Amino acid sequence: LADRLQNTIQKIRGKGKVNEADVKEMMREVRLALLEADVNFKVVKDFVKKVGERAVGQEVMKSLTPGQQVIKVVQEELTQLMGGEQSQIAVAKRPPTVIMMVGLQGAGKTTTTGKLANVLRKKYNRKPLLVAADIYRPAAIKQLETLGKQLSMPVFSLGDQVSPVEIAKQAVEKAKEEHHDYVLIDTAGRLHVDEALMDELKDIKEVTKPDEIFLVVDAMTGQDAVNVAQSFNEQLGISGVVLTKLDGDTRGGAALSIRAVTEKPIKFVGLGEKMDALEPFHPERMASRILGMGDVLTLIEKAQANVDEEKAKELEQKMRTMSFTFDDFLEQLGQVRSMGPLDDILKMLPGANKMKGIKDLQVDEKQINHVEAIIRSMTKHEKAHPETINASRRKRIAKGSGRTVPEVNRLLKQFEEMKKMMKQMSNMQQKGKKKGFKF
Ligand code: GDP
Ligand code: MG
Repeated sequence: LADRLQNTIQKIRGKGKVNEADVKEMMREVRLALLEADVNFKVVKDFVKKVGERAVGQEVMKSLTPGQQVIKVVQEELTQLMGGEQSQIAVAKRPPTVIMMVGLQGAGKTTTTGKLANVLRKKYNRKPLLVAADIYRPAAIKQLETLGKQLSMPVFSLGDQVSPVEIAKQAVEKAKEEHHDYVLIDTAGRLHVDEALMDELKDIKEVTKPDEIFLVVDAMTGQDAVNVAQSFNEQLGISGVVLTKLDGDTRGGAALSIRAVTEKPIKFVGLGEKMDALEPFHPERMASRILGMGDVLTLIEKAQANVDEEKAKELEQKMRTMSFTFDDFLEQLGQVRSMGPLDDILKMLPGANKMKGIKDLQVDEKQINHVEAIIRSMTKHEKAHPETINASRRKRIAKGSGRTVPEVNRLLKQFEEMKKMMKQMSNMQQKGKKKGFKF
């Protein structure tokens, strides 16, 4: 799919002017590309018609860079074709919510089961139970148990002598007893879709009445992934798709076809083997990727991450030299606000993840506002030299910020403690480095 589109796009990109004939030619290529990709005929027809209409329409012809404008239209329509963002996960009226993970061998079911559990806990504060229902693949149970250990999450298993249906059934019962709100069933796969596999999955579905059936497919397998998705959807019925291994060099054309053929949303994408490498599916990013324009947003995010990394380094330097001031603190608060959870930021501070108790830190938005107000009421000199803030200054700061003197006192004390902690941390790190530990 991508190659054909790429050629056409290369041709059209540089054009100063686009006429109807150009658009027609391009649309023919797009059409062939989509059909080649096994995209449903009707979908292709609609798509080409829509793009064609828009492309010869005013918005393109009047534009200064019609060639690029056409690409933009194609991109927008591709995005549309892949559906809106759909990364939400079902919540059962009566817990536990049961999610069945299905797919062929090696697609990434077990890995994704772990990743999903991680997301459920981290982002939604849920308590998932992982279920090892692949009794055929050697070491499959062990693999899930290892992931469970790594994530500190319970894994339900009855060994490989009990039928997967029975395992799934007992797992749901156990989840009820032990108040797990999610049950993630890692099922077996085969090399190909076959009847025995489908029968087993249907039985598990029958017994557990899952709220979601996520089909896990390997993006690297291209068109095969599309066929697999079609079979699973027809025979078992799926509620969503997880596209794995997008960190490889596939263009991801499968995403387009899968969505078109199954009409089921792609919910997540796998971007690596690690437990945090699962992300919501962004149709517009995928459209760019398919068009080969590079994943602009991802790049921006990466650049962002780099900047933050630099800041973290700077901060580390400051900790070491103890020149950390209230201004730095303020800046950090700003980051907390713009970046979300404090623990994410702390993660950027080298060594912070080793500190006990940091994981449980909770940040209260109001509290941050108060703290910010107090700091802003300090003079420049006071911010850099908090030790000079005496009683009368404290009173003034309290007045200026609309907070009380005890609150100002508390913040000053906390700040001192924080500096102390940072000093310890940086010492720890220095020592670690000397001994050759990696933090
Ligand atoms: P299963 O047979 O469907 O359970 O597949 P597994 O979860 O065992 O995964 C098969 C292989 O693919 C393992 O080596 C995983 O580490 C790897 N894998 C899974 N998801 C991803 C991904 O998103 N990116 C990459 N690079 N590898 C992945
Ligand atoms: Mg597996």
